[in-house]
Amino acid sequence: MAEIGFLGTGGAVPSAERDNMSFVIVRGDRSILVDCPGGAFPKLKKLGLDPRSVGHIAVTHIHPDHVYGLPAFIHSLMLDEGTVVLWGSADTVEFCGRLLDLFRLRDRKIRRRVEFRSLAPGDEIEAEPGFRLSALRVPHHSSSLAFRFAFEPDGRTLAYSGDTAAHPPFFAWAAGCDAVVHDCSAPARFFRQHPALAAMHTSALDLGLMSAQVGIRLLIPGHFFGEVDFAVSEIEDEIRSRFAGRLIIPHDLMRIAL
Ligand SMILES: [Zn+2]
Ligand SMILES: [Zn+2]
Repeated sequence: MAEIGFLGTGGAVPSAERDNMSFVIVRGDRSILVDCPGGAFPKLKKLGLDPRSVGHIAVTHIHPDHVYGLPAFIHSLMLDEGTVVLWGSADTVEFCGRLLDLFRLRDRKIRRRVEFRSLAPGDEIEAEPGFRLSALRVPHHSSSLAFRFAFEPDGRTLAYSGDTAAHPPFFAWAAGCDAVVHDCSAPARFFRQHPALAAMHTSALDLGLMSAQVGIRLLIPGHFFGEVDFAVSEIEDEIRSRFAGRLIIPHDLMRIAL
């Protein structure tokens, strides 16, 4: 049985209620952190989790709202022996290495070691026994990858789009998963006013439509733009106008059983 806990559910501009998007997948006493904006360490504690349980960090891309908290997170673990494996595209892994080097966090006195492993689009890798990680290129930034997490022996699967424009190949790839976490930055009316952003993010309307087309089992939207004047009920109504499946609108520090 796996569970996910949201450290944040907002877009690049956080609000009072929603910090930058990030979540943790919990399996027993091990966990996988997905993206690492600020405050990951205390937010894991607020979720009732031990930050030392994080054995893997999967980073979707190098925009600051997905990665700027990484040095502070590793620094907070500096007295703990052990390893954390950081996954991302080759560009993301290289960038994260440089980010840690800025703060000398690969120095010997930092006991928590970071292992860097890059994924190419189409890869499916056994990250550790019972945990397989797959990657798909998505249209957002040159470093961007979507991830699919598969766990044994319970066979649970979860796909996460990261930031992305609405991208039918992602939905085909994620269709059989138990749950899908997806970019849902704003209602469709926002993208009509800012068409250039439709090449980088997904509207609630497109998310509902594409999720319905492939029969997503559990849809969890996120990355809600904080600077846009809309209520989350508008997001929910727009998704619901196209998608009749199971839908959970997450809030910060929410835990959801998979
Ligand atoms: Zn973002
Ligand atoms: Zn981004």
